[in-house]
Amino acid sequence: MYNVTDLIKKSLEGERLNAEEIVYLLSFSPDSPEGYEIIKAGALLSRKLSNNVAEVHGQFALNLAPCPADCKFCSFASINKVFTESKELSITEAINYALDFEKNSECSSIYIMTTANYDFGKFIEYSTEIKKHLKPETILIANIGDQPLNNAIRMKEAGFTGVYHAVRMGEGRDNKLTKNIRLKSIENFKSAGLLVGTCVEPIGLEHTMEEIAEKILIAADINPVFSGAMRRINIPGSELSKFPMVSELKMAQIVAVTRLATPHNVIGNCTHEPNPLGIFAGANLIWAESGANPRDIKEKTEESRGFSVARCADMLEDMGWNVLKGGSAYFSK
Ligand code: SF4
Repeated sequence: MYNVTDLIKKSLEGERLNAEEIVYLLSFSPDSPEGYEIIKAGALLSRKLSNNVAEVHGQFALNLAPCPADCKFCSFASINKVFTESKELSITEAINYALDFEKNSECSSIYIMTTANYDFGKFIEYSTEIKKHLKPETILIANIGDQPLNNAIRMKEAGFTGVYHAVRMGEGRDNKLTKNIRLKSIENFKSAGLLVGTCVEPIGLEHTMEEIAEKILIAADINPVFSGAMRRINIPGSELSKFPMVSELKMAQIVAVTRLATPHNVIGNCTHEPNPLGIFAGANLIWAESGANPRDIKEKTEESRGFSVARCADMLEDMGWNVLKGGSAYFSK
């Protein structure tokens, strides 16, 4: 039989945990002695591996639209009927969003997001124009739908350093995509020379510990520049909103377990949305957001759920982290 202290020791010595061991760590209540032991171990390991330096990244969306991929956890999903009309930023608005992030030295990467059905040619056209207006050293990351290799190569040529892409909870069950499509895209991005950041998301009370453990291992096997864990935010009126959201305290434990189950060469350990407990438990990457946001029902998340860079940095510093100034260390791998 397992015990928590032995599994933590195994992780700290750099050995990989298997699915059963991860499930065991996840199975404790976060406010049990074992839960606190796990949170403490994940927190200390994360701080050690990243030299107590955390990062804030900024994301904005080029569009909002009903998306046919129909991820039940996303406000853009057609099925959720939150956004019934398509709206796109003008190129000037997009450049201004990017410049707003760039002017803050604590924003160490800028993510350009679109819904999965946004025109790829337009995405490249906009990204190329945005890149021209940014400093050459500003790190650009794409957060878009699944792509074949030739598109991934065009993204690299357009100046992207990396992508955010994940095999989400419930691929194929809670949307019209599949795990294999997501993994194939990740392979294509990597083949094109793009660095991949990922996350175990979006976790809700509807998920078993086995499913969470499976996704933690998939994320680790990608050899990403960061992994981490994020909870599902209830979209009003959506089918999944009948399930309560995971508490921030339980998420803190999952963030810590993800850190313990991820190889030590992966320094970044994200959580989202920003919250003190996740950061306390070892999350060293959180996001500021502007424009449309798949967890929000407002068109401009900066007026709603989205955090500013300064608010993210304050939260990290409040939890004892030093906040990186300048380009992301994770995406400089
Ligand atoms: S998560 Fe992405 S792919 Fe899924 S519905 Fe939302 S925008 Fe579309």
